[in-house]
Amino acid sequence: MHYFIEVIIPIALPQTFTYKVSEAEFEFIQLGVRVAVPFGKSKFYTALVAEKHHNPPTLYEAKEIHQIIDEKPIVTPIQIEHWKWIASYYMCSIGEVYRTALPSALLLESETIISAKKEVVVTDDLSDDEYLLVEALQQQTALKISEITSILNKKKVFPIIQQLLVKNIILLQEEMVEEYKPKLVRYIRLFPEFNSADRLEELLTILKSAQKQKDLVLSYFQLNASQRRPISVKELTEYSGASPAIVKALVDKEIFEEYYLQHDRVSFDEVKESQLQLSEAQSEALQSIQTIFAEKEVCLLHGVTASGKTEVYIKLIEDFLAQEKQVLYLLPEIALTTQLVGRLTKHFGNKVAVFHSKYSNNERVEVWNQVINSSEKAQIVIGARSALFLPFQNLGLIVVDEEHEQTFKQVDPAPRYHARDAAIVLANFHKAKVVLGSATPSIETYFNAQSGKYGLVELYERFGNAVLPEIKLVDLKDSYFRKKMTGHFSQTLIDEMTEALSNKEQIILFQNRRGYSPVIECMTCGHIPQCPQCDVSLTYHKFKNQLRCHYCGYSIAKPTNCHACSSIDLTSKGFGTEQIELELTELFPTKNIKRMDQDTTRGKYAFEKLIDSFKNREIDILVGTQMLAKGLDFDNVSLVGILNADSMLYFPDFRAFERSYQMMTQVSGRAGRSDKKGKVIIQTYNTMHNTIQQVTTNDYVGMYQEQLYERKIYKYPPYFKLIKLTLKHKDYDKLKEGSIWLYQVLKQQFDIPVLGPEEPPVSKIRNEYIRTILIKIPQEKSLGSTKKTIQKILNSFDAVSQYRAIKITINVDVN
Ligand code: ADP
Ligand code: ZN
Ligand code: ZN
Repeated sequence: MHYFIEVIIPIALPQTFTYKVSEAEFEFIQLGVRVAVPFGKSKFYTALVAEKHHNPPTLYEAKEIHQIIDEKPIVTPIQIEHWKWIASYYMCSIGEVYRTALPSALLLESETIISAKKEVVVTDDLSDDEYLLVEALQQQTALKISEITSILNKKKVFPIIQQLLVKNIILLQEEMVEEYKPKLVRYIRLFPEFNSADRLEELLTILKSAQKQKDLVLSYFQLNASQRRPISVKELTEYSGASPAIVKALVDKEIFEEYYLQHDRVSFDEVKESQLQLSEAQSEALQSIQTIFAEKEVCLLHGVTASGKTEVYIKLIEDFLAQEKQVLYLLPEIALTTQLVGRLTKHFGNKVAVFHSKYSNNERVEVWNQVINSSEKAQIVIGARSALFLPFQNLGLIVVDEEHEQTFKQVDPAPRYHARDAAIVLANFHKAKVVLGSATPSIETYFNAQSGKYGLVELYERFGNAVLPEIKLVDLKDSYFRKKMTGHFSQTLIDEMTEALSNKEQIILFQNRRGYSPVIECMTCGHIPQCPQCDVSLTYHKFKNQLRCHYCGYSIAKPTNCHACSSIDLTSKGFGTEQIELELTELFPTKNIKRMDQDTTRGKYAFEKLIDSFKNREIDILVGTQMLAKGLDFDNVSLVGILNADSMLYFPDFRAFERSYQMMTQVSGRAGRSDKKGKVIIQTYNTMHNTIQQVTTNDYVGMYQEQLYERKIYKYPPYFKLIKLTLKHKDYDKLKEGSIWLYQVLKQQFDIPVLGPEEPPVSKIRNEYIRTILIKIPQEKSLGSTKKTIQKILNSFDAVSQYRAIKITINVDVN
């Protein structure tokens, strides 16, 4: 009898692979455990066991495995089913899904690079091998695992490396680029010997001559009694009005002690059950969702901005926790988590875990283990799209917040999956429910809700006394004509800003472009500097005095004269966030103005810091790109300005109007979240444009119907499924020839629309030329068999020797 296992290897080849094991290993191995396997000439990978059998492979001689890594499965059967679905639906290999699904610390391979952590004290509890490795790393700084294999003269090095990762002594190279250090918050507590109410009197006696210190201690007791959770230094000083010096004095006297907690992982020993009362509208929404869940899997919660959707989710989550189910809360971008984690931990305390691509590998592995063991500590997981791949045991509910956000779709690398859609499939495997939430649902989702496939629940009003902001349009053509513009600001916008500022209210300004101005243009010959590697103009960044490519990062110092004609008459064209910021400092020199875009939020906590100081009202005016549109909740913003609505509208994309509506409505939604009515000023050359009118009147359904009509006529989703093929090659002519060949074969095979081969707006990136082909599949056509045909054609394309070097990527449901 022969014993074989079938494994998934984290590479782009379509099949699984067969390896030989001994009878004892065969008995020991469970499906879902990892094994280290040799592959190719000298590589080895961490593979996952998907099957056990007795059939030798026909095309190759099965090799033996290096070793078994796990005793117990780290992946569930449902996960493997889900991966298979993703691989088949999004047309990629299961190995690629596996690679994306697992934290990289669980996927060590021969090419993985390891280095020693800085400032680590090597303790004496290391084994000989561990010690040898740490020593080697101190001399070499970084080593491939294959090199470690030869240093230790052993094949089985994974456990040693894994141990050192757990002991926090070594790092994977990828982490070194940006080792994520979660934000630490300073907390304060009484020294243990004073930490009970009956010691209070004694304490006050000790402090009898220090009135301010006495007051602070009293404040501490009051705060502690009322909230029963850790007290931060900031909270205490705000509550008591005491200065930091007094806190320090008490710390020096060893009455108080300071300690630090990670901001988003604060643990609450005793959570006070929150007394949250849903409004009538919220309760009705909650009940409707519960009723819908009795017969449908998915429900869309369409509620205007600040209608209190989050609180409805919280009540729903309570239901599922009571049934001991796990809950997944998906967010489009992890930047938002800080606010949400705060809100959820208030209700659920320790049961909330965050799965964050920026967390260290250790922390990700920790959450992974908690989820597979159904630990209390991760009953609710908050995360961006990759949290979908955690090993849930009994998932009950998935919340997809801001479901319209395009960042739910992964673009590169494969799998190019949409987390919302993949979440619905995952829920199906678990017999779990899904709630999709948004103030501006995607056309597809609203279509599914209208057709009855999903339930639909709506919230039309903001929570409490808050009302939706009033939206005013400013006609830019008219304003320029009447010379009522200062830089890019209309007089109307300046007046409204002046008023808001005099009321001590805050302002958000939205400009959909970063940088100072997109391009530098020669006034003599019209030359605009281009990126030498990409088909785009370079963007001017004033503060660094640079021209930069936003696609590949190429940069040069700003030229003093034209590279084409040497003229020194250069001018900047267009405008971005940086220029707006500059104009603002001239308009409002005494105000604190900050900019939020990819350039200012690159640093470790830059985003959180900006949000925090804006929330604390240290910033008067915040200028930013679409980052500002993301579900943030500020209570003192009375004015939102959109500087130029038109650049979004004319983006060459079938979703341009849908996206413009979503973006403008979401940014507007940041205004007037508390008692006062907010205002929004939209500057545009097209005041009568339908989309702008729909935003102004908050007419989501109008936007939806108009767009749906267009989608039908022009053959786009939800009526047609789109598959985009992207071809890339360094040789322009070869690419052109190959893409025409592929287009013609597709065209011959199908009686459905095949478009292209097109040169996209950016037709060269990093010296590779790009062509795209778009295939539109009508609803009545079988998606599965169409994909099979496409795959067959791609295989024959690959068989043509002169085209083999052309890289092709497949994007199903491109968006
Ligand atoms: P949405 O997610 O729909 O934009 P939020 O859930 O952020 O809205 O709610 C808007 C504001 O109203 C938040 O500050 C939230 O704390 C508050 N809020 C919502 N519902 C309630 C409630 N039932 N009781 C008290 N405050 C609420
Ligand atoms: Zn010139
Ligand atoms: Zn470039």
